[in-house]
Amino acid sequence: MRSHRRGSGRFTGPDRGGHFGPFGGKFVPETLMAALDELETAFHKARRDPAFHDTLNAYLRHYAGRPTPLYGATRLSRALGGLRIYLKREDLLHTGAHKINNTLGQALLAVRMGKRRLIAETGAGQHGVATATVAAHFGLQCDVFMGEKDTKRQALNVFRMQLLGARVIPVTSGTKTLKDACNEALRDWVTNVRTTYYCLGSVVGPHPYPLMVREFQSVIGKEARRQILQAEGRLPDALIACVGGGSNAMGLFHPFVKDRGVRMIGVEAGGTGLRPGEHAATLVKGTPGVLHGARSLVLQDRHGQILETRSIAAGLDYPGVGPEHAFYRQLGRARYAAVSDRLALEGCRLLARTEGIIPALEPAHAIGYLKQLANRLPKHSLVVLGLSGRGDKDVETIARALPDV
Ligand SMILES: *Cc1c(COP(=O)(O)O)cnc(C)c1O
Repeated sequence: MRSHRRGSGRFTGPDRGGHFGPFGGKFVPETLMAALDELETAFHKARRDPAFHDTLNAYLRHYAGRPTPLYGATRLSRALGGLRIYLKREDLLHTGAHKINNTLGQALLAVRMGKRRLIAETGAGQHGVATATVAAHFGLQCDVFMGEKDTKRQALNVFRMQLLGARVIPVTSGTKTLKDACNEALRDWVTNVRTTYYCLGSVVGPHPYPLMVREFQSVIGKEARRQILQAEGRLPDALIACVGGGSNAMGLFHPFVKDRGVRMIGVEAGGTGLRPGEHAATLVKGTPGVLHGARSLVLQDRHGQILETRSIAAGLDYPGVGPEHAFYRQLGRARYAAVSDRLALEGCRLLARTEGIIPALEPAHAIGYLKQLANRLPKHSLVVLGLSGRGDKDVETIARALPDV
């Protein structure tokens, strides 16, 4: 068995103020400081309470479908020639993606805090659906903020949320997309903080959200660590996952962060090219700035105006990224690459044809990167890929982009 050096406290952050090196923190109006403090206190109390973990674990198991399999994708591996790839099957979870890990944790926290109303922001609607799902399950009122443009592009998810009993509030400010929905959710929280819990969808936003969402998503990496040790008797050489806000990647990466021999690769949306407005590759192309309550890397112009983003994968289409990823990039602990729409579609088809699994377009970006990865790693390297979601939601988009399959 190969030994892996463990070490460096640098990766155990954030500090008490929520900083990961120069990134993170709380950049919010004074009126939200008290709400964030209340949330932080409740979270740390829950985190230390074995009863909270027992309850959450029971829901993850019996309601969401954990543990998810770690599947040795031998046909995919053979097609790529060289790597030995395992897939962490978050696509098999209830609601079709990893997002339920986080919304279950936060809903339980809301119930503990005595809040009767959940609010959430959503872009494509995936986090909105996962929030509406747990709100229904725990009998909470649920309002989801969604850019008006997105409500039209993602009408089916709007209906799903409504079917689950949530109200979808179209946001008409700015570009009428996800970043405007985030602003509106924060604004609502300021006004209704006594009764309302803000269920944020990724490892972004002000402290304690990046820490909290990481904790709830780390179940992915903890399971994968145990499963790969059982299957192979050693740790993987590399982890690879797609990065939108960064929650599924952080959930997979974090339990391995002190294992210095395990490489980490995050794959962002390269869209149609790497000029401004054509992509959503924040870690590859962003610059330091403040967005949605935290300092991180941001896609912005010289004047600090947020740039438009684009990606074939709606879940990656966001101009910010979690502060902990920005820190890992700075330290060189993780590496980040951009994969184009076209290459992601190829990845999608490759997994469908070799393994009989249609991935969501978000993790299809990670699959699309595997050929390049195979050229960079020694032959027979062991790789765990985070398959964050299933492709059902994307079939129409894929059909339009690949008319001749
Ligand atoms: C939302 C979503 C993502 C992107 O969000 P992260 O916070 O970066 O994980 C990735 N994959 C799927 C399937 C999603 O629904």
